[in-house]
Amino acid sequence: MPTPASATEIVLKGIPAAPGIAVGPAYHFRRTEQTVEERRIAPADVDAELLRLEGAIDRSKKELAKILAFAEQKLGASQAKIFEAQLLILEDIVLFESVFKRVRYERKNAEFLIHEEMEKYHRLMANARDEYTRERAMDLEEVRNRLIRNLQEQKLVSRLEGAQVIVAHQLGAADAMILSRNNVLAYVTEVGGATSHMALLARALQIPTVVGVHNLIHHLGHGEQVIVDGFRGEVIINPTSATIEACERRRREMMTFEQTLAELRDLPAQTLDGRRVTLAANVELSEELPFIHRQGADGIGLYRTETLLIGKEVFPTEEQQFRQYDLIAGSMAPKQVIIRTFDIGGDKLMTQQTKEQNPFLGWRGIRIMLDKPQVFLDQLRAILRASARGNVAIMFPMVSNIKEVRLAKQLLGQAKDELRARGIAFDEQIPIGVMVEVPAAAIIAGDLAREVTFLSIGTNDLIQYLLAVDRGNDIVSDLYQEFHPAVVRFLRRIIERGKEGGAWVGMCGEMAGDPLATILLLGLGLDEFSVAPTILPEIKKIIRSVRLSDAKQLADHVLSLDTEDAIRTAVADAMRTKFPEIPIILPTTYEARS
Ligand code: PEP
Ligand code: MG
Repeated sequence: MPTPASATEIVLKGIPAAPGIAVGPAYHFRRTEQTVEERRIAPADVDAELLRLEGAIDRSKKELAKILAFAEQKLGASQAKIFEAQLLILEDIVLFESVFKRVRYERKNAEFLIHEEMEKYHRLMANARDEYTRERAMDLEEVRNRLIRNLQEQKLVSRLEGAQVIVAHQLGAADAMILSRNNVLAYVTEVGGATSHMALLARALQIPTVVGVHNLIHHLGHGEQVIVDGFRGEVIINPTSATIEACERRRREMMTFEQTLAELRDLPAQTLDGRRVTLAANVELSEELPFIHRQGADGIGLYRTETLLIGKEVFPTEEQQFRQYDLIAGSMAPKQVIIRTFDIGGDKLMTQQTKEQNPFLGWRGIRIMLDKPQVFLDQLRAILRASARGNVAIMFPMVSNIKEVRLAKQLLGQAKDELRARGIAFDEQIPIGVMVEVPAAAIIAGDLAREVTFLSIGTNDLIQYLLAVDRGNDIVSDLYQEFHPAVVRFLRRIIERGKEGGAWVGMCGEMAGDPLATILLLGLGLDEFSVAPTILPEIKKIIRSVRLSDAKQLADHVLSLDTEDAIRTAVADAMRTKFPEIPIILPTTYEARS
């Protein structure tokens, strides 16, 4: 549909969830509004109501089995596991026994009771502080909606005419899967995160996706033209013909670029003048492993183990953890896998929610683990057992003083003794690393380096603590500046002092995966980049296209600048003028300024 001349172009920011650029008309995907009313059932109708419930459960299972088979055929067994998880919810005997019982004794209608019983769990999970649990709550919600739809015998729209950009408040993994049978150009949602099942699926399906776009539906009408940029995490509503043209051009460039990237897969991340760095991936779920292999990662620079705690009321046992760590280490061997010990607290999952005034300045990361030595020892033994493969390293988060590192190492020693006594193999020389994400740790980086094998800079937290800007607070997001002179100078100091102390220095915060920062980080002397798997080939391409000597020059120049704007412009200019062959993803704000 052509865009009316009067319509103004609106750019909305979201979270990039699957790479690619698409242009097309918006299709508002809405599930039929489900109104669930409470009804009394006459004693004579109870049996029929129970049958109706059984029928809906049965139909839901059949639908999901079909989706599972379709996903297996299209994406392979490992990606399709998502739907096995939903099927398992439908097999939950305790949940449904309680609904059946209540139909019998309270004589209320099945959809009301299904809604009530499932809502109890859903509310708990959806209100969790951590993103992971909130996203897993969506699985439960999807299953509940499916059951209610089947009880109410509604049909789901899944056939669309022509090529469309699917726009929704929220999209479940099953919705994304079923809709993908049409010509879907892109997905955009108002809620959701980059680690949701739906995002994982979209990446596997290679459909550009942006999630977490606030006020999307308010701004974007059904049928209106929209550009979805899954690299930048941007949605442009009512684009002008000039913007569409620029986007089409960038899309073509990106496609050519992507083709050249595939050739880079097995090549090292090495500069033109021979400086080799490690280019690893950040991973949260084992489902991502095939994608990480395809992207040509040198290893895993950050495995966020908190995902193992999703929906759990107790910490997983040593054995359960070992199985997961061993699976990842085995899949990546002989490439290194850095397993970070539980970083709970702050905005992340806590098994026993403790109310704190200032959770980000509170009981978080290593602090909790040192206060819970038994939990810590279980995890340390599990990691050590996986280290028998010879490619595992261990990393401690949220360290703010050297005593914490020494205590953690002492406990690691104890875990080793316990394994020795049990006659279980592990890597005696397992490398130990510390995350530098608290300014205090940055200042004592040299001392920390003498205690460990490596430091890994966590810019997500480091920037928020250094600039006093909450990383999740929209109101002050303008002040969250990666290229703030204080950040850049701090990075130089950490890298220099860390190396002087004998450690190698990497970065696993989001800045490592910002293409605009790559040359600067190389120039500052970073040894390892651990990035989101989607962006990894682009970063490799940049590293392989530059000279370390030029990167150093840029870093020296940037260190003398005194505003974030000046630094951002300098790094963007370096990208543009020195490497015009790279159709790199510069932020729109930069393009608007230039
Ligand atoms: C960081 O803080 O940069 C980091 C990588 O850790 P997380 O985002 O898990 O806090
Ligand atoms: Mg952190």
